[in-house]
Amino acid sequence: MGKKLSCEGCKAKCCKYICVEIDKPEDKEDYEHILWYLVHKDVSVFIEGKEWYIQFDTPCNKLDEKYMCKIYDKRPEICKKLSIENCEKHGAGEAYDVLFKNVEDFVKYMADKGVEIRDLG
Ligand code: SF4
Ligand code: SF4
Repeated sequence: MGKKLSCEGCKAKCCKYICVEIDKPEDKEDYEHILWYLVHKDVSVFIEGKEWYIQFDTPCNKLDEKYMCKIYDKRPEICKKLSIENCEKHGAGEAYDVLFKNVEDFVKYMADKGVEIRDLG
């Protein structure tokens, strides 16, 4: 049997963001939406497989000062589904295939695909 995994010392990495699936951008209007997302602080966009997501890095209000969940028994279903084997600390590799941390990352990725996105400077 493998070593038992622990949350000790992690400071709850899994409770400090949310991500939501978005449509794959296909046209100029969609690209403008991605640009809008990416000009915001602590917002990123990533691709995992064929799916696109927006991520907001923001800590959960239900974390206490010791990084424990204050509503553990009543926590949302998505929190319950997280397995420690695949979590941010113990999981193998990154959750994304491509990460856009800013406009420049997105513009470069699209340029490599032959799509010119206007540079916001
Ligand atoms: S499940 Fe993983 S990411 Fe979440 S607190 Fe525990 S060790 Fe940290
Ligand atoms: S509700 Fe609890 S388990 Fe879910 S993100 Fe917030 S602190 Fe973490």
